Amino acid sequence: MITLKRPEEIAVMRQAGRYLGEVLAELRELVRPGITTLDLDRAADRAIRRRGCIPGFLGYEGFPRHLCISVNEEVVHGIPGRRRLQDGDLVSLDCGLVHQGWWADAGLSVGCGTLAPAAQRLLDVTNEALRRGVAQARPGNRIGDIGHAVQEYVEAQGFGVVRQYVGHGIGRDMHEEPQVPNYGRPGRGVEIRRGLCLAIEPMVNERSPETRVQPDGWTVVTADGGWACYAEHTVAITDEGPEILTLPPD
Ligand code: MG
Ligand code: MG
Repeated sequence: MITLKRPEEIAVMRQAGRYLGEVLAELRELVRPGITTLDLDRAADRAIRRRGCIPGFLGYEGFPRHLCISVNEEVVHGIPGRRRLQDGDLVSLDCGLVHQGWWADAGLSVGCGTLAPAAQRLLDVTNEALRRGVAQARPGNRIGDIGHAVQEYVEAQGFGVVRQYVGHGIGRDMHEEPQVPNYGRPGRGVEIRRGLCLAIEPMVNERSPETRVQPDGWTVVTADGGWACYAEHTVAITDEGPEILTLPPD
């Protein structure tokens, strides 16, 4: 079932999104060579609770930490731990929080120290793919328009879009209907209407879009060992078009 949110509900989600944008901006500033992913996890916990919010990921389907950190060939759902980030790592941070019963879910990728040109390009393409996907999230379009815009752009750049994991509706729950694939055909799928709230999250692989899950049961890696990148926003659909709720400050 797809739930459309009323303006007063979107107002609460807007605040949730603003908090999460701030949290991610703080975390991004901490990414540097030598920091452990567990350090970042603890910082996320503090930053979320300081704002009076609940870390949504902790315990979600048994996830043991406060955010997902996925490095280099890891696509999504990496578990923070003792890993020390190194110069040149491509680091994705995916975080979620709950504010007054409403979710925000967002993430970004950032270079640790100096990225190699190929990794920087992967990051730039991923960010642009998200921008293009979000731009399609307007009344009258369909879910397939979002995925089509992402896929067409990413594949034209020579990269692959992950199929096994997708974006989603969001609201009282993190994962609501409809699913929002990063591939698709224009004009297909659920109609996008005012009040729909979506988490749009392109996952872009350097080479093959195939993935597999590590023995920890969570960490998704590229099947071929190529690097991967990810970015995500929670978006509310208004009459004027998409409103990104999880923008960083400024
Ligand atoms: Mg997320
Ligand atoms: Mg998500």
